[in-house]
Amino acid sequence: MNRVIILGAGAAPGVPSINSGWGKCDPKNPKNYRTRTSTFIQYNGTSILIDTNPDINRQLIHHQICQFDALLYTHPHADHIHGIDDMRGVNRVTHQNLNFYCGAKTAQYIKHNFSYLLSKPGTVHDVVHMPSLVPNIIKANHPFKIKNLDIMPIKILKHCPESMGYIFAGGDIVYIPDFKEIAQSAYERITKRPRLLVLPLTTPWRQITHAGLDDVLQVILRINPERAVINHMASECDYDWVNKMTPDNVEPAYDGMEINLD
Ligand SMILES: [Zn+2]
Repeated sequence: MNRVIILGAGAAPGVPSINSGWGKCDPKNPKNYRTRTSTFIQYNGTSILIDTNPDINRQLIHHQICQFDALLYTHPHADHIHGIDDMRGVNRVTHQNLNFYCGAKTAQYIKHNFSYLLSKPGTVHDVVHMPSLVPNIIKANHPFKIKNLDIMPIKILKHCPESMGYIFAGGDIVYIPDFKEIAQSAYERITKRPRLLVLPLTTPWRQITHAGLDDVLQVILRINPERAVINHMASECDYDWVNKMTPDNVEPAYDGMEINLD
């Protein structure tokens, strides 16, 4: 089975949020109910989780996902990492370490804030009491492989000190996390028309560290995928409104959205 599941489609506060409630989102549309952003990819016989947001526990249980081949992180922000302790459940199923892959600064953030869960290859923690995770440091533009899946990390600019996107299977799937700009070198790594591009919008307007809808549409135009899905939306982004503002091959994500790539 080749598929991508948008486990959560919300920006850091979720929708509704503590501070803004439903904002501009129509509360009657269930697609506007958004937990935070993580994505599950099953492709070429390999399964990958991208980011452990604070809602990851419920998301994995809902989709009956209890193990995968590797965990990738995009950047060191709380809404993408702080569900990391729930990886203990995965360790309890596999009785093995879980390998995660990220840039050096993200690894440093995890080491600083969650040092108790880091393990070494060959040594598995007592997973009843704590998770057992092994860091693997990767660099933008240096490809690596998980089982049968080729992965190219790409450089994302001006969101935070380090943000990484990923190209899977030579360009079939492109995943871009929170961004303000995308490095030229990242575009150069996309050498074929992707079947699927997943990328975030946070608010319709551009912020200091986030692209706005115009920027997102420009990136889509430049990468020219068969299909683009927009995730990481805050309460300013109503589902129907985003859908109306985007071309036919572009659609807003919603929690639990499954994209079949067979
Ligand atoms: Zn975020």
